[in-house]
Amino acid sequence: MDYKSVIDSIFAQVQDLRGKGTQATYIPALAAVNPEHIGLCLRTLDGQVYQAGDAQVRFSLQSISKVFALAMAFSMQGDSLWTRMGKEPSGAAFNSLIQLELENGIPRNPFINAGALVMADVLIKHMPQPENQFLDFVRSVSHCPTINFNYGVALSERSQAYLNTAIANLLKYHGNIDGDIERVLQFYFLMCSVEMSCEELSQAFLPFADHTRPFDYNGVRLTSSQVKRMNAIMQTCGFYDEAGEFSFLVGLPGKSGVGGGIAAIYPGQYAVAVWSPRLNNKGNSLIGMKSLELLTTLTAQSIF
Ligand code: GLN
Repeated sequence: MDYKSVIDSIFAQVQDLRGKGTQATYIPALAAVNPEHIGLCLRTLDGQVYQAGDAQVRFSLQSISKVFALAMAFSMQGDSLWTRMGKEPSGAAFNSLIQLELENGIPRNPFINAGALVMADVLIKHMPQPENQFLDFVRSVSHCPTINFNYGVALSERSQAYLNTAIANLLKYHGNIDGDIERVLQFYFLMCSVEMSCEELSQAFLPFADHTRPFDYNGVRLTSSQVKRMNAIMQTCGFYDEAGEFSFLVGLPGKSGVGGGIAAIYPGQYAVAVWSPRLNNKGNSLIGMKSLELLTTLTAQSIF
């Protein structure tokens, strides 16, 4: 497959969409990011790397971090994790409260905010220094020791966190958060604030594309069966109430974030990361979605 010309062609074709969509404004620091960036990086399991645009500029991972949180929580808790959250698509916005109330404080899945707050609680409980251990893990899986939190973004999000605070309170009311709510929120916002470039993110997702092998990075261990299950959750829940549309248009397991990033994998072949800050009305990168749709269309490769 000539991925180089595919990536170049995608980059050329998405230029027409520049200016469409809007950045997330509920996190003031994210609204200040230059919205014109477009980065793309595809990395194959046999070591080829193809990139275009701003593939080396770091951006805020936001909900893409939930994949790393799940790898850690699943590794530590195994299947008992599923007593505290489901693995069904929510069909609702990532920060919805209604479903959580109706379902008695059990989040539908780990990739909506409620699920990630429960995972933050699990990680705090299992680790003496959760921030350090989270960073050590993401540095290890991305092969990049300089990956870090952006404290300014985390504080900015905290300053306006009315909805996430309400979600954490509802979880606590239903007994699905053990620890202190403030501590859980603090750790959650730091996890979301991790920054990577498309080049680094494609590396960090490559082990999920290598789904027939066990996963082992800095003490975070998953069996190949658990890796496949993580991919299944990315497929069904990675794009909130647009998971069906992403399956329909793209056909790869993946995860988006409100920083405008999307990471996806083609099992057995490659990991791909795209970034463009303007989002569609479901909170997913508009150019990112189109880029990945073009990728699976031009290559005629998807999991279907
Ligand atoms: N930190 C963001 C939030 O909690 C993450 C949301 C997202 O990327 N979808 O609202």
